[in-house]
Amino acid sequence: MEKVAFLGLGNMGGPMAANLVKAGYSVTAFDPAAAALEQAVKNGCSAAASAAEAAKGADVVLSMLPSGALVKELYLGARGLLQALDRDTLVIDSSTIAANDARQVIAAAGERGIRAIDAPVSGGTAAAAAGTLSFMCGGEADAVDAARPVLEAMGANIFHAGPAGAGQVAKICNNMLLAIHMIGTAEALQLGVDNGLDPTVLSDIMKASSGGNWSLEKYNPYPGVMDGVPASRGYTGGFAVALMLKDLGLAMDTAAGSASSTPLGALAKNLYQLHGGDDKNQRLDFSSIQNLFRRPAGD
Ligand code: NAD
Repeated sequence: MEKVAFLGLGNMGGPMAANLVKAGYSVTAFDPAAAALEQAVKNGCSAAASAAEAAKGADVVLSMLPSGALVKELYLGARGLLQALDRDTLVIDSSTIAANDARQVIAAAGERGIRAIDAPVSGGTAAAAAGTLSFMCGGEADAVDAARPVLEAMGANIFHAGPAGAGQVAKICNNMLLAIHMIGTAEALQLGVDNGLDPTVLSDIMKASSGGNWSLEKYNPYPGVMDGVPASRGYTGGFAVALMLKDLGLAMDTAAGSASSTPLGALAKNLYQLHGGDDKNQRLDFSSIQNLFRRPAGD
């Protein structure tokens, strides 16, 4: 498992491919965006002119794309990559996509005798750069085991969540919960500030009390409370509102498919839609939901 084809070299895929190179893998990369491909070459990857060219002779094909539609376009159909891959190739899709889309790709791979898993990630761009991502894998145990060494070169935690699509389900459950406790944290901090409390003092109190949670402790949404988080640099450089909205949409679709009751997830999606309504907010980090609760100056 030495040769890896890496497809999709964006904010996440770029640093992930670089970590594979550092771990000694021979990485051939493809991305239709020329700047992303150039950066990958600077990081030690070889550039390919197409996904098919990158995948030729690869032991592992790893994709990190923005949407399920693009993942299906890449792998499926008469001109899809699955038609061209050798049977002993291992396919790992780390994009966040609908579980049903992942199952479709994995089943189509299985029909051709090709092992494939879904392996979406948690941790964001900082963990992608540091090689400390969490991978949530779905698929056959032997395929997940075969993927483990490659994933360990990019991540600190490799979970086998269950059969095909299970990684995607785990991912959207986690991100739905993340959205809910981020909004709750922002709402509580604003209530305190509106009633005369210092947000740092209130954060310290809640961290040591029953309101403590990851958003409050590790990713405080109130500007100036914590160094090194997006809230303290104008909500730039984190996990975009647009991506959180994508994940909440996937969570709601999944809930509809299983007739699960997710009222807080639905409300979280609604609030992020309200907040992300204008294009500027879509690109801000998701902790900028704090601004939905802050009063305009002078109010
Ligand atoms: P991005 O938009 O920065 O990068 C995606 C890249 O894929 C782009 O460079 C694009 O040109 C390329 N691409 C599109 N079609 C392609 C194709 N057919 N072949 C090869 N490359 C192609 O997105 P990102 O932030 O890197 O996110 C990638 C995936 O990871 C998404 O599914 C996202 O939801 C998920 N994710 C992102 C984060 C985050 O913090 N950014 C965290 C966890 C998960």
